[in-house]
Amino acid sequence: MDLEAIREQLTERAAELSDRQERVARHTRHREEPLPQDFAEQAVELENGETLVAIDRELALELQQIERAIRRIDAEQYFDCTACGEPIGEERLQALPYANSCISCASKE
Ligand SMILES: [Zn+2]
Repeated sequence: MDLEAIREQLTERAAELSDRQERVARHTRHREEPLPQDFAEQAVELENGETLVAIDRELALELQQIERAIRRIDAEQYFDCTACGEPIGEERLQALPYANSCISCASKE
């Protein structure tokens, strides 16, 4: 696996997520600010602050997972399960680049 490419991918995704977070925050303060396109529909359905809070929480969670994955790449622990220390497996990491546990630990959670 090309760790450099994965790191770059994760960094790009993190930038995208913080950009969205910022737009959601702006929209929360000033309703006239447009929402990111893919959230607009969701938000219109409920039309209240709770939706935005939920979206913001989701973004924050994913951002956190990505930042953790980047730190694990830098610490050369990217391939190791944080729960049992066994390899996470390339297939799993390809499907979920910020997975931090192997499939058997993840299914126990
Ligand atoms: Zn494990």
